[in-house]
Amino acid sequence: MAMQTSVYLDYNATAPARPGVIDAISETLRLGAINPSSVHGPGREARKRVERAREQVAAMVGAEADQVVFTGSGTEANNLVITGSGHSRMLVSAVEHAAVLRTALTKAADCDVIPVLSDGVVDLAALETMLADDDTPTLVSVMAANNETGVLQPIADVVRIARAHGAKVHTDAVQAAGKIEIDFAAWDVDFMTLSAHKIGGPQGVGAVICRSRELLRPMVLGGGQENGLRAGTENVAGIVGFGVAAEMAAAEQADEALRLAALRDGMETALKAEAPHLKVVSDGAPRLPNTSCLTMPGVRNDTQVMAFDLAGIAVSAGSACSAGKVEPSHVLDAMGIADDEAVTAVRISLGEGSTDTHINSFVRAWLELWNRKGNSRTVAA
Ligand code: PLP
Repeated sequence: MAMQTSVYLDYNATAPARPGVIDAISETLRLGAINPSSVHGPGREARKRVERAREQVAAMVGAEADQVVFTGSGTEANNLVITGSGHSRMLVSAVEHAAVLRTALTKAADCDVIPVLSDGVVDLAALETMLADDDTPTLVSVMAANNETGVLQPIADVVRIARAHGAKVHTDAVQAAGKIEIDFAAWDVDFMTLSAHKIGGPQGVGAVICRSRELLRPMVLGGGQENGLRAGTENVAGIVGFGVAAEMAAAEQADEALRLAALRDGMETALKAEAPHLKVVSDGAPRLPNTSCLTMPGVRNDTQVMAFDLAGIAVSAGSACSAGKVEPSHVLDAMGIADDEAVTAVRISLGEGSTDTHINSFVRAWLELWNRKGNSRTVAA
């Protein structure tokens, strides 16, 4: 039987709800029947709380409150942008999360994939050519930060190129929010996606930030909630939790980025010193401070994840968003990493609760496994 997990290094999959978030959610639920569409007192209290959260989420990303549309998840927010922005042509980067890639490939009448370079950064020259070749109104979708490798994309360059060709830009900032500074206004994108549970808020709450609500049409029809852009009674408690998480994450972001980068870099240095064959995927590219994608030569990632789990350490093989399935990573594939190397890559992602002790435990467990299963084979090969 697996030991209880004592070292959680899978924050990109989901972060534990912050204590302040849990308090705010339960306090809101305890208020009883509160529907923000009701005009009576309890309804007005609900509305007040939803609008406060809208301000908190907007403030985290340098947007205005009326640019925030709450949704039922980051996935739904991506779907809303892709189906609701009225573009028949889409260009999406090859390393997008499935919530963008699959949706665009399925729903857009015409969708092309923008390649990435070997370091995982989007190929800007290819984007330029793809836009120049076709003057159909286009939506370009390039994520702010990759969930598997942590690679940060050059959004300012993407916007500059897209604007020069009259295209609109969406960025999935689900992994970037709370980890790096985000300025929606300065980034000048048209749409941005956020998700509460990656920043210590509840699961099942997300948001689209849109330059103007006029740019979107609803995907879910019914009542007039969210200014007609997302029908359905609001998840008031969840939205309140998102707001509190956003405020806390924004307040800690700068200090946490430094602290987590030091822990992450220390871990990578310690492992490389003992295992020079190891590859830190995209270590030459700008990355999120909390993310490391590491290969263990000769040892499959499903074997690693199970061995770490037995040692009480939670990490993940690639993206954890596909219901526990370990499939070859389309992200590593797009970077030209061969399958036999890609299947040895594990993602370590740190967060608020990560400490020196956790990192030391992980380094010890990694080296122990590598010496037992990988090192001898690698050296003999
Ligand atoms: N986009 C990215 C980059 C993600 O990493 C994830 C989740 O892992 C999502 C979107 C989906 O967000 P949600 O889990 O809220 O649907």
